[in-house]
Amino acid sequence: MVKIATLDPAGLLSELSALVGPDGMLTDADVTASYARDMMPLAPSGDPLAVVLPRDAGQVQAVVRACAAHRTPIVPRGAGSGLSGAANAIDGCVVLSLARMNQIIEVDPDNRLAVVEPGVVNLDLRNAVEKEGLFYPPDPSSYDWCTIGGNLATNAGGLCCVKYGVTTDSVLGLDVVLASGELLRTGRRTVKGVAGYDLTKLFIGSEGTLGVITRATLALRPLPKAPATLVASFGTTAAAGQAVITIVREGIVPSLMEIMDRTAIRAVQNFGHTELGAGAGSAALLVCQSDAGGEAAMRELSAVEQACNGAGAEFVYATADLAEGRLLLAARRAILPALETLGTWLTDDVCVPRTKIAELIEGSERIAERLDLMITVVGHAGDGNMHPTVIYDQSSADETRRAHQAFGEILEVALGLGGTVTGEHGIGKIKQDWLAREIGPVGLDVHRRIKAALDPDNLFNPGSMFTA
Ligand SMILES: Cc1cc2nc3c(=O)[nH]c(=O)nc-3n(C[C@H](O)[C@H](O)[C@H](O)COP(=O)(O)OP(=O)(O)OC[C@H]3O[C@@H](n4cnc5c(N)ncnc54)[C@H](O)[C@@H]3O)c2cc1C
Repeated sequence: MVKIATLDPAGLLSELSALVGPDGMLTDADVTASYARDMMPLAPSGDPLAVVLPRDAGQVQAVVRACAAHRTPIVPRGAGSGLSGAANAIDGCVVLSLARMNQIIEVDPDNRLAVVEPGVVNLDLRNAVEKEGLFYPPDPSSYDWCTIGGNLATNAGGLCCVKYGVTTDSVLGLDVVLASGELLRTGRRTVKGVAGYDLTKLFIGSEGTLGVITRATLALRPLPKAPATLVASFGTTAAAGQAVITIVREGIVPSLMEIMDRTAIRAVQNFGHTELGAGAGSAALLVCQSDAGGEAAMRELSAVEQACNGAGAEFVYATADLAEGRLLLAARRAILPALETLGTWLTDDVCVPRTKIAELIEGSERIAERLDLMITVVGHAGDGNMHPTVIYDQSSADETRRAHQAFGEILEVALGLGGTVTGEHGIGKIKQDWLAREIGPVGLDVHRRIKAALDPDNLFNPGSMFTA
């Protein structure tokens, strides 16, 4: 972990309190501790000097300037739902929480865009634009509590990416407070626009290492039709993998295509979700949706059904009934609560070519067997983004060690299959070495040069993603 020495902690605290007001600063260690970590148990974290909660971009600029003058690092923070330790505090830092900057500033139905502050919760934005018949697609499973700022800074994905892309595909422009305290405006409000470098994309996925996002202009879509849902179970992982390959090759684009392996199926069934239709021998399950609407949706799912049957599915069921569809999807969404009843979960995040999904699952099974652990795999099959999740007893040092080993071995398998070490959760404070390995020395050097150009004093989130 990075260690830092603030020049004059007491002086900085009194400056910050004057800037954000006494109700905008927290220093009680019992309280600041709840801002020190995200949801990744593997990642290191430190004790922040303070948590500040600015109300507008002007306050963010002032806080950044004060921290820069005191050489005190800043860790920007949304809801802390991250799964890479990227929002974890380092000793003596200022955690800059954007939670109070949570206004939806504008929804413009004619230009199909919204302007929001970073602390807006993803679901609140989705609900607000839905009232205008519009749709904000990025839907991480944590959508009912993660923030747009966190989604932007991690380039979050979710269940709908197979059809609508990831967060960056819905962003037109950003306001970003730089390490100098200046406010940078990137992007535009128009549908097209190529003036200059694409600075918007540079900040998306930068995990709080380049600047603080204080406003975003987001592209919206027309509200999709109510989805029809299909569930298919397979006797082998290879058959499920083949179904995905056929669906992709046939050019069918469902609005959602999720996969669960045998361990995940058993876990949610034991948790009470018996509606999946998977038998005792079921090795993998696909849950697909089409939001094409009415007959078109059922036609699309019928093409999916043919692909599943062609690959040897044991059971396929499609329904246009909304309540039934919700129930089937609820089973997929229940995986983490189901796993929580079995032990501590440590979720990995890799993305492999869609032709390699079965091999990734089989590789995870082999690791589980060799290390004598439970590993479930669920994932966004439509884009090859898999979440092998290790379940372990954290009171056992030996089992914890094996769980951590499994986490790394899964990354190894993914890289070996031509994949990447993170599909959506990011690098944060747990995968720095893996980033270096994946992008190579030239890629890493370019990252460092960009960081040095924008944040020469290493103010923002030092030690996260890579060492400067
Ligand atoms: C149960 C569960 C399910 C999840 N499902 C998904 C999923 O389907 N897809 C997915 O992609 N992720 C998923 N996640 C991970 C997590 O929810 C996402 O990474 C999310 O985008 C983080 O948002 P947050 O507001 O919690 O950000 P935080 O965790 O607080 O921060 C994440 C990163 O963003 C930076 N940051 C936050 N706000 C700003 C800002 N305004 N300016 C600059 N940097 C900022 C932080 O410094 C940090 O580096 C899941 C997590 C959980 C716990």
